[in-house]
Amino acid sequence: MDSIIDVKKIVERKKEKIKSNVQKLNKVGIYPKLAVILANDDEASKIYVGKKRSMCEELGIQEVEYILDETTTTKKVLEIIDRLNNDTSVDGILVQLPLFKHLDEPKILEAISCKKDVDGFHPTNLGKLIINHEEEIIPCTPKGIMWILDSLGVNIEGLNAVVVGRSVIVGKPIAQLLLKKNATVTMCHSKTKDLKSYTSKADILVVATGVPNLITKDMVKKDAIVIDVGINRIEKKIVGDVDTKEVSKKVKYITPVPGGVGITTVAALMDNLVNIASKRKEKR
Ligand code: NDP
Repeated sequence: MDSIIDVKKIVERKKEKIKSNVQKLNKVGIYPKLAVILANDDEASKIYVGKKRSMCEELGIQEVEYILDETTTTKKVLEIIDRLNNDTSVDGILVQLPLFKHLDEPKILEAISCKKDVDGFHPTNLGKLIINHEEEIIPCTPKGIMWILDSLGVNIEGLNAVVVGRSVIVGKPIAQLLLKKNATVTMCHSKTKDLKSYTSKADILVVATGVPNLITKDMVKKDAIVIDVGINRIEKKIVGDVDTKEVSKKVKYITPVPGGVGITTVAALMDNLVNIASKRKEKR
């Protein structure tokens, strides 16, 4: 279907650019390095860490992992973070979520230096996003969404953008980024009355709810751009938050699931890391 965006192509182009930036840094003696902390037994998390490891390898980025077992304590994790914060060879620290339940997640996440927060979730970095600070670190999924929108060559200024979902990792930051591009942004959530009355006016519709097939064909505007962030597992199949099959017949562009926003996230993380590493050059 013509309306389905080829996200793979967008990601490949970005990866080439990141790889070339890594090579440029290597030439001046800078070797970007990511530190990953995994403190849970969750199979999905192990898969995500594996994906990050293989993309680091592919792009020439150094990676170090701290795999912690159930006996680990908040104190131990904080000690590791403190060491990594002070290690000048480490550019980014990533704590894979969720953590073992007994660990103090907010305390651990806040302990990461905001300068090494590759995920962009630190309160300081979320604040920088709001004030358009030049040193902002953009959370990875919203960053990937902006890559997709940029690749379409659409002028976002003045368009009606509706974001369904208000999480800290997707909904709120993407609304902020769209606002920065001068879209008129509306945010919807589970308490929104008559969701359709908003979504049907959207020139750009971003859906991040985790509710399979929440958005149906009658809820979208003709020729809209639809970004489906949802990743929902149903009977071994992965589906998004949008009824892609039907909606794709009506809109101008739509991201597929799987193979859509999801595949931009790890590349966006690598981009954040390399941007942080390039600041080492400026400091010299
Ligand atoms: P959260 O559960 O943190 O937030 C979901 C949001 O959706 C909430 O704001 C909630 O409203 C809203 N919501 C829930 N039901 C409805 C409804 N019926 N109508 C309108 N709004 C609703 O989810 P995340 O943002 O973390 O993730 C959303 C989806 O995106 C998931 O499927 C997740 O797997 C996927 N995801 C994909 C990523 C990727 O591509 N790399 C990364 C992160 C997430 P309220 O605030 O009122 O509860």
